[in-house]
Amino acid sequence: MQHSILFSQKARHLLVLFILAFPLLTVAQSPPNIIVFLVDDMGWQDTSVPFWKETTPLNRRFHTPNMERLAAEGVKFTNAYATPVCTPTRVSLMTGMNVSRHRVSNWTSPYPNQDTSAPDSVLNAPAWNYRGMSQQKDVKGMVYAKTLAQVLKDNGYYTIHTGKAHFGAKDTPGENPLNMGFDVNIAGNMTGHPQSFLGESNYGNLPGKTTIHAVPGLEKYHGTDTFLSEALTLEAMDALVKPTASQQPFFLYMAHYAVHLPFDKDKRYFQKYVDAGLEESEAAYAALIEGMDKSLGDLMDFLKEKKLDENTIILFMSDNGGFSFQPQRMGADYTQNSPLAVGKGSVHEGGIREPMLLKWPGHTQPGTVSTYPVIIEDFFPTILHMANIKRYEVPQVVDGQDFSAQFTKGKAAKKLLVWHYPNKWGKSGPGISFHSAMRKGQWKLIYSHKTEKLSLYNLDDDIGEQYDISKANPKITRKLADDLSQYLRQREAQMPYNKALNRLVSWPDEAYRASF
Ligand code: CA
Repeated sequence: MQHSILFSQKARHLLVLFILAFPLLTVAQSPPNIIVFLVDDMGWQDTSVPFWKETTPLNRRFHTPNMERLAAEGVKFTNAYATPVCTPTRVSLMTGMNVSRHRVSNWTSPYPNQDTSAPDSVLNAPAWNYRGMSQQKDVKGMVYAKTLAQVLKDNGYYTIHTGKAHFGAKDTPGENPLNMGFDVNIAGNMTGHPQSFLGESNYGNLPGKTTIHAVPGLEKYHGTDTFLSEALTLEAMDALVKPTASQQPFFLYMAHYAVHLPFDKDKRYFQKYVDAGLEESEAAYAALIEGMDKSLGDLMDFLKEKKLDENTIILFMSDNGGFSFQPQRMGADYTQNSPLAVGKGSVHEGGIREPMLLKWPGHTQPGTVSTYPVIIEDFFPTILHMANIKRYEVPQVVDGQDFSAQFTKGKAAKKLLVWHYPNKWGKSGPGISFHSAMRKGQWKLIYSHKTEKLSLYNLDDDIGEQYDISKANPKITRKLADDLSQYLRQREAQMPYNKALNRLVSWPDEAYRASF
């Protein structure tokens, strides 16, 4: 008897020692909360966090103190990519599929049955999934898949959609985030931009003036001076109360309408940028950026206050490059992506390279940098890995690759990153629409569907893609054209149709043989 008491005291003592020695073990067992903070149309340089090797004038223009804070607490990814426009990125994020496979290759219209591919004199776009994505099978014009949110929900997560959805057109299952694996939907539907960011304008819900872009919900902020980014943040934090109280893990998809058009003035920050010497439209854009950044900070403060910060993953990302066109009602070129070429709508770096940050408590090291190349479909398997969901069944083939062990690693010289854009965005310009592209190590191959010409860039020396070195490097060009063609063929990628030549656009390797 005495012996067994002694033993049990000893055992208890050992147990206490064990707990003292491994305090993180118990924490690590509860599933982490996940926040994906997705900004709309934010360029690589639209932040005070430098993502290039040097600080640029644009980094000095913008003020994003909370992105700086997140970068200081986590990892900055300097080679992160999305697709050239909104919906393809959002579908890749939610399904893990590359665009060449899911075929939602352009932005989806908010209207029912409207193909957004702009007419072109040379090419016809292929029959793409112009109505977006759906969790229901066999819906006309939609790719069928199970979403990231649905997999997380099926595994016990409370899933909250906030802001811009833009997964599918009106009158389809994809128009409503509640059909896409979300328990809660705050202000999301089929539209790709808000009619207004202003509470004073009811976010577009004004009698006689309401369009399809009026932001749904948020009635309690109508008639107030609450900027849309702020209203979404307040509502998101409100929605977090329930899972937090019941200790259910949550997935918050914080998909801001900012910083897409229209560039309404966020008066909390606008004057500051005018005083700093910015022209009015540039000041409005910079204020829109800082209002979005405040939302990030508010969420980080919320996590800290609720003692959730040590078990919450935050992933910051944008859905395409910065808008580099001058809208008629704005006076100046208010955003561009220098040192990158072109912008939204292009497979050049300015259209696809994104500011990305990740904090995964207990795994990422504060203030570190990862040069590992990441593309948006990689988020799907990576997030599920971080959530410790090892087995899941989805109907789609996942192209994305888990990068959760790549927080410091170098170049991944063999990893292929592929973009495929066989549509016309709606705006024209050099490098916009109708291209495929691939990155492998420092090499970037761009294939023009119109001219069937290949160009090659060395991003290590030429991040601005100013010098086509394909003719001087035919072997590298050929290898990349082969790799790109194989990748696209394997996924049955669709090429546009050349009306003058009366045939489909050639594969890149065929174009290589014809011109080299
Ligand atoms: Ca976008």
